[in-house]
Amino acid sequence: LEAINSDEINKLELYPDPVCTGLTKRLAETYGVKPENVFIGNGSDEVLNFSFMAFCEDGAAFADITYGFYQVFADLYNIDAKVIPLRADFSIGVEDYLNLNRCIFIANPNAPTGLVLPLDCIRKIIESNKDHAIIIDEAYIDFGGESCVQLVNEYDNLLVVQTYSKSRSLAGMRIGYAFGNKQLIKYLNDVKYSFNSYTMNYPSLVIGRAALADRAYFEETRNKIIATRERVKKELAGLGFTFGDSMANFLFITHEKVAARELFEALKIKKIYVRYFNKPRIDNYLRVTIGTDEEMDALLAFFRDYLKKKA
Ligand code: PMP
Repeated sequence: LEAINSDEINKLELYPDPVCTGLTKRLAETYGVKPENVFIGNGSDEVLNFSFMAFCEDGAAFADITYGFYQVFADLYNIDAKVIPLRADFSIGVEDYLNLNRCIFIANPNAPTGLVLPLDCIRKIIESNKDHAIIIDEAYIDFGGESCVQLVNEYDNLLVVQTYSKSRSLAGMRIGYAFGNKQLIKYLNDVKYSFNSYTMNYPSLVIGRAALADRAYFEETRNKIIATRERVKKELAGLGFTFGDSMANFLFITHEKVAARELFEALKIKKIYVRYFNKPRIDNYLRVTIGTDEEMDALLAFFRDYLKKKA
């Protein structure tokens, strides 16, 4: 809010900087890469969108249970998509991603499962698909798991996508970014400049820099969410829910006795909103976003009460 009100945002009659010089430099410094390795977009959805446009001439590949926008972009651009089933436990089978000869999209941690793919597995996938871009979508990486940002200095076919929308609590500003080899970044810029040079508005560029400068606030809010997540895991397990060990800011839960759909409907009446996916394999699961401690306590109180009545 200080950044919004500062003198820095005082020239709204002018177009914003199309190359996002200041924010690019700050992101490069923060993550230990060069400015030429940084691309900034209007939310990471835009970065992913551009990636589908830029890198998928031989097709795309992604998991059957993952971020829903991958299939949407593939459909929109008529891209041949190989949809790879997750294993029964919802983990990614690395062997399914070797030598695919197409652009691969992996959310890590995955959504909506929250499960993490270790770095050595990502390396194997990158190394066995050297002629195609591997897009690692790290929207939730700050909540757990190991980032592969540093690998962009090692591999020229790796693009790591991140966002301000989750761990930096700034979804409203629409700031996403990617790190990758200079050439990959150029291709993304080619797409961007082909339809709109000014995807990043001036206030977002200023606020994006201010947010990176305030490391303490970032650490505090993200740690709060991680602490709440771990507490809620324990409480949900005590209530008979099972779930994978999510490292994201949500849990993907199922109950041994009560159907997810039933819980979803009952929660909705109480104005507690969780995500239900009416899709094969996951239609008995709920994705529960980690909110404030008070919000989570309301959810837990509801579950306690509801399950007691059912018993
Ligand atoms: N990737 C994943 C895995 C997501 O869940 C989301 C959030 N919907 C995004 C990317 C896009 O986030 P944003 O456009 O707000 O950066």
